[in-house]
Amino acid sequence: MLLEKYSIGIGDRYGHQGVAQLKALVCAKNEGVSIVPVWNKSKREHSLIGSIPADARKEADNAVSELGWKDSYYIDADHIGIKTVDDFVKYCNFFTIDVADFIGEYPNEQSVKSFVKKASAYLGKIEIPGISGQFDITENKINTIAKKYLVAIKEAARIYQHLLSLKGADSFVTEVSLDENEQPQSPEELFFILLGLAAENINIQTIAPKFTGRFNKGIDYIGDTNVFINEFEDDICVIKYAIKEFSLSPNLKLSVHSGSDKFSLYKPIHDVLIKHDAGVHLKTAGTTWLEEVIGLAEAGGEGTKIAKEIYEQSFNRIDEMMKPYLTVVDIDFDKLPNPIEVYNWSGEKFAVTLRHDQSNPAFNIHFRQLVHIGFKVAAEMGERYTNALVKYENVIAKNVTENIYSRHIKPLFLGK
Ligand SMILES: [Zn+2]
Repeated sequence: MLLEKYSIGIGDRYGHQGVAQLKALVCAKNEGVSIVPVWNKSKREHSLIGSIPADARKEADNAVSELGWKDSYYIDADHIGIKTVDDFVKYCNFFTIDVADFIGEYPNEQSVKSFVKKASAYLGKIEIPGISGQFDITENKINTIAKKYLVAIKEAARIYQHLLSLKGADSFVTEVSLDENEQPQSPEELFFILLGLAAENINIQTIAPKFTGRFNKGIDYIGDTNVFINEFEDDICVIKYAIKEFSLSPNLKLSVHSGSDKFSLYKPIHDVLIKHDAGVHLKTAGTTWLEEVIGLAEAGGEGTKIAKEIYEQSFNRIDEMMKPYLTVVDIDFDKLPNPIEVYNWSGEKFAVTLRHDQSNPAFNIHFRQLVHIGFKVAAEMGERYTNALVKYENVIAKNVTENIYSRHIKPLFLGK
């Protein structure tokens, strides 16, 4: 099972937007660009929403059959670890093995020795095609990388072997993710991480490093775009080189994660992908839920009421909502409108405040970040929320498709 060159992670918290999401990929296909869908959902999302992996599988199967989608599609056990993987095994064919928590754990001497021995073949200066300048590899550097990443690499191997024993080879796609960590990995580190993963015989097809800069929930990238893109391009060159050096899967590619919209990175990423004829896995995770709230706000009646209540509750319980996301939101409390004021807004005013359109002066990044992390409120509404998703399906679906196609796919995959 080989993951295609272009793939997109379309998380769908409440499991109602599969068709609307897939329509965006049909639009891309009509424009001549093939992208395969990956429906990703983590254990944490499932437990907060009250869904199970079987639901994600059902949603994907339904969307695919309803639209007559002929290409591959995947269901991603997102950010799983050894403790959470088992629930997903039966329903998923894509596994994001998250070992970020193991970075920095101290490995045993024996494993460091064996890693250093393999890595020593690259002592001195290595030149990687496409990268200006050379990597200057010293024994000290190799030791440091081993001590920082080896436990994470071994943990990825443990989960991969577990999956192999349960599912058999060639029946799933493996991604290894390191992104949920404070410190970015340099291209040099990525090279030796790939050496380590190859030495463990992990058939890795995508890797999600932590990139430089801030990727806050639901809003644009914060950081120096040039620094990011240089690092991204170097990573692509490292991967190309590593595929040959370590006999890794020829389709190995980068995965760009986080619930951030990262719009300012899309065009530069597109250009680099074209330049190197490289693929990418993009995760747009989480923002489909915001399109639901936007659609509800626009719908009027009970829909608008629900949208405003979600905001009010998120506002009143802001500390609780922020707690799991402290490192990935920057909300200025003073820039949040008071819920009493919001109750007087029109549905349209609510929608434009939330919708990620930077050219609209009404757009408020603080408002958007708060609603993004407030999905627990909608989960608590239970059927009242999901019934509204059904009732106002048309206006919501339009927003979901438009968001994925126009704001994500077009700039990143079509370069428009
Ligand atoms: Zn991630």
